[in-house]
Amino acid sequence: MTNSLGIYIHIPFCVKKCNYCSFYSVLPSGDIKGRYVKRITEELKRWGGQTARPINTLYIGGGTPSLLTAKELELILSAVRDNFNLLPNAEITLEINPGDDTLPLLKAAASLGINRISIGVQSAKDEELKLLGRRHSFKYAVKTVEVARFCGINNISADIMIGLPHSNRDSLQVSIDGILSLGTQHISAYILKVEEGTPFYRDNISLPDDDAVADQYLQMCTAFKDAGYGHYEISNFAKPGFESRHNNRYWLLEDYIGIGPAAHSFFEGKRFYYPADLSNFIKGSTPVSDGEGGDEQEFIMLALRLSRGLVFEEYKARFGCAPDSSLINKAKFFEQQGLCICDDRHISLTDEGMLVSNSVIGELI
Ligand code: SF4
Repeated sequence: MTNSLGIYIHIPFCVKKCNYCSFYSVLPSGDIKGRYVKRITEELKRWGGQTARPINTLYIGGGTPSLLTAKELELILSAVRDNFNLLPNAEITLEINPGDDTLPLLKAAASLGINRISIGVQSAKDEELKLLGRRHSFKYAVKTVEVARFCGINNISADIMIGLPHSNRDSLQVSIDGILSLGTQHISAYILKVEEGTPFYRDNISLPDDDAVADQYLQMCTAFKDAGYGHYEISNFAKPGFESRHNNRYWLLEDYIGIGPAAHSFFEGKRFYYPADLSNFIKGSTPVSDGEGGDEQEFIMLALRLSRGLVFEEYKARFGCAPDSSLINKAKFFEQQGLCICDDRHISLTDEGMLVSNSVIGELI
């Protein structure tokens, strides 16, 4: 287990809610962003007083972090550096929405040591972006990648969504080709789900059926692998050496502190979170307990999300014994169905297994 720590900072502002989104975010108005950033710096100071562990990943996500001004971003980075030992080779990621005025922010980001950006591209088809309620068109995603490279940030991730309303193999291929044309080092892929409380839920929007979505997932996996991306996690693809170090923390059950309303933490065996309430956060609310974390089941569940899978030696190093033999027997059963690989060293899911990961992992544990 590593001694280092990750920090996630949530920026809970969006100027417009996307039609599918159930994340916690609010419209920024008045001086709320400035007050929020001040409060984030206070929490960074409080946390910094509780641990001397070095920070090797920092992730600023949202919401829409690209709504921060250069000055606000600088205040956050300075507070991290002032209160923690931010390692010189730390991975520092900023999420960016295409279409925001990114040049001044990305210039500032690069000068502040931010070395990775994640862009919410979602689709290369403008009519799909409109349907999703996104504010950008694909040409702004292209522009954002160009601006990032111009500013010297060359570790870039792009998001793509599959299973969109009215989508099929041909429309997905347009987005796959568009994403690949960006030449990013990392791609995150999400299957659209209709969540309660969203405009898509209210409008009872219809999505492609499960078989069509499964077909899209496998089409995408093949295309990205053929283009040289490793499929290292159910929803993530990367060129060699560009796997997200921060997100790997979540799957490897390594410690991280999440700061901001609705941000979750796993720290020294405990889980906790800040309630999803911006005004209370600004008034000084602190995290509430979410119980113990990091048991055997959780370790297995998260490890199986990764293509490297559940490595028995790692399990033994953590829990002092090998995984239960019933787990191996069940994995052998799923191996016969092409859903996983099981040998004397590890268990991992195939692409087909990743597609039905919830039920396979549920059965295994
Ligand atoms: S920009 Fe992101 S966080 Fe904001 S509404 Fe859209 S999907 Fe949700």
